[in-house]
Amino acid sequence: MPPLIAHPTVVPFVTAWSSEHLGPESDLAVLLTPEPRLGYKAPRTTDRDSAGTLWARMAHSPGMGRPIYDSMHVARQRICMYSMKCQICGHPASHDKHGWLFINWRRPWDPPTWPEGSLTEQPPLCEPHARTSVEQCPHLGRGDYAVLRVRTPRLWGISGTNYQLTTRGWRARESNAMVPYGHVGLNAVLASRMIRELRNVTVIDLPK
Ligand SMILES: [Zn+2]
Repeated sequence: MPPLIAHPTVVPFVTAWSSEHLGPESDLAVLLTPEPRLGYKAPRTTDRDSAGTLWARMAHSPGMGRPIYDSMHVARQRICMYSMKCQICGHPASHDKHGWLFINWRRPWDPPTWPEGSLTEQPPLCEPHARTSVEQCPHLGRGDYAVLRVRTPRLWGISGTNYQLTTRGWRARESNAMVPYGHVGLNAVLASRMIRELRNVTVIDLPK
């Protein structure tokens, strides 16, 4: 999933750059805890989030090479989503008495209550960059979207690559698998996006 804006006037904080490669699959190991669990051969403290989910490793070198506008950097997406930072500038996202500022567009799997209750990989925004997104985001030109204040953007889970244990080790089975926190399936998933569920939403017009 790309960041909201994909336009040369600004490179979003969450955008991945061509020099930022994912870690090799050969780094992965089978941990027995006692059930098989995905891990790294050489663990680092930053590999897992507070729920114990294993995260994909990605080089960090923003500004080197060229921006890959249709791809988000694993760690910068996670930082913005977890800490409620603007996905474009990385500074604190806008928050007022009606909640946090998000933009969400309707997708086929959204609940009929959309935008209430939708799941999103798109981190929040500051007000100026919400305006930029509405002006420049190619996705927002297609179909329904809503600018939202969200009182309860609940940490829901992750999406990532689902692995299957074989006699020769882990084998990737499905990419972009969405798994909620607390689910046993997290033991075999390498996370690459943090997901929030948008609850108690108010659709707003952006202030001019
Ligand atoms: Zn911003």
